[in-house]
This record gives sequence, C-alpha cells and structure tokens, in this order.
Amino acid sequence: MLFSPGVRIYITVREPYYNLHENNVLAMCPDCDAVTSFDARGHGDTTLGAVIVNQYHSYKNVQFSRILWQFFRCNVCSRGAVAKIHDSGGVMSGVLESFYPFAVEHLELPLRVPADIVSEFREAELVASQAAFRAASALLRSVLEKVLTSNGYVEVEADDNGKKFKSKSLKHRIDAAANDGVITEARKRRAHENIRVLGNDILHDQWRKVEAEEYEDAHQYSQRLLEDLYDDRDTVEKILKAKKRMPDVPPTAVTAPTV
Ligand SMILES: [Zn+2]
Repeated sequence: MLFSPGVRIYITVREPYYNLHENNVLAMCPDCDAVTSFDARGHGDTTLGAVIVNQYHSYKNVQFSRILWQFFRCNVCSRGAVAKIHDSGGVMSGVLESFYPFAVEHLELPLRVPADIVSEFREAELVASQAAFRAASALLRSVLEKVLTSNGYVEVEADDNGKKFKSKSLKHRIDAAANDGVITEARKRRAHENIRVLGNDILHDQWRKVEAEEYEDAHQYSQRLLEDLYDDRDTVEKILKAKKRMPDVPPTAVTAPTV
C-alpha cells in the first residue's frame, strides 16, 4: 500500500501508476524489491529522453495525437525504465499503457521443496508478470502434478461407488494425498477447484481469457499446498513411508534459492 498526499493510491506490482502531476511512475523496482518512484529527471537539471511518435490513434476508446516512449530511472537505485504513454501533446492528457521493467511477484516457499518444482513455480510467476495468466495457471497445474509425482502419488487406488480401481488421473491423486493426510481437506478442495480444474480448462477446453484473480488464487493455493508437504517434511515423509507411497524416500533434493 502506498500513499500520496491526500490521495490513497493502491499499487499492485503489476499495475504501475503514472502520476501526471509529477511526471513519474510509481512501480515495483525489481532491483530495490519495493515500490519506488521512477522519475524522468536526469543528472542536474536534465530530463531523460523520450521517443515521440506523432500519430492520431485510439487507445481504450480515447483519441490521442501521439505516443511517448519515455525513459525513467528509479530514484533509489537509478535503474532505467521505459514507459509507453498515450497523450495529446502534454503530460496532463497522458495515459500509461505499459512499463518496463515488469515486476515479478514471488511467494515464499519452504526450503525443502525440490529444485525442479521451485523452478516450475518461479516460471509461473515470471510469465504472470507479463500478464500471461493462462500460461502461468497452466504451469501451476504442472507444479501440482509434479509435486504429487515427487511424493509418490503416480498411480493410486480410486473408489467409484464401492468399485475400486487404479487411476493415474490428477483428480484421484489429489484425493489420495488428502486421504493419507499429507494435505488438508480444505487444501484438497482448493487444489481441485482453483488449480486442477482451471488447468484442465486451459489445456483441454476452448480458449478463454484467464483473469488475474484466477491466477492469484491458483498461485496462493499452490504455495500453501507446497507448505503442507514441505514445511514439516520429516513428519510428511513418515506418513509417506507408512502409506507405502515412498518406500525408499530419497534425500530431499538440493533446493533452488527462494525469494
Ligand atoms: Zn530501484
């Protein structure tokens, strides 16, 4: 949450805010790992440069006479940045369309999560920073599948109205992990509703836009699932051995750095 005098402005990492009055952009700086002000001021009294494209055009149903590619720099660490701004000859009519660098929102993961699963999770966060929420959500489904495989839930016994059978479906693998008690009932429901079903829609159904909120739910519940399985890893491994999911539990893989 960031406040400017008299005006409450909520900044999310994916939504840089163009401050017309100051001609600066409030955005997440990846180098500072914080929301900072990116200013157009250079050294001394100079102003950083801009490329101006004079052309009448429409952006979000509003007419503008030019596009500015304006250079900015973080006023904390001096990292450079570029904004695409639509205006009609003056900054007061300016509307920000995009801002580089994109900020990547990381959630903390337990240290013992295997490196390949951490990498898949981080790549989901990376593509989400580009607003590619379909791709990011599909990767989170992959995180779910990989973590179940890694914990021995590859082929499980399923039950259909008393008729037992072997299944490799993700649905039954999630149910088996919950039945063993390594993930909670609440987490099972979220894994189905917010990760598996969303991922299946993306992979198998007709194209549709995936909203940021859908990704954010999947992102959050994937993190919590990993916490269930790796926060108290010793206890989980005892259950996995008792349930014969992992008769020979290997030493936990070296983990990638977490952010
Ligand atoms: Zn910075």
